[in-house]
Amino acid sequence: MRLDHLRYRRYLDAFVDGELDGDLRGRVAGHVAACPMCARDADVTVHVKHSLARHRGLTERAADRMRLWIRRHPG
Ligand SMILES: [Zn+2]
Repeated sequence: MRLDHLRYRRYLDAFVDGELDGDLRGRVAGHVAACPMCARDADVTVHVKHSLARHRGLTERAADRMRLWIRRHPG
């Protein structure tokens, strides 16, 4: 278990991003399911990525509003 942990931990990020291929993904998924530490880390990584994506979305919307406002208020 502990050796698995050390071996698969480094793949967590790629695993969460869906960047691993079949065989390795299956093994990492198996480890995450059995390892509370990796399960928690994977969860945290997902949350961080989601909030980053949301933040980016908000920033883009704000930039759109700003562009619109500038177009409506020339000069
Ligand atoms: Zn682990």
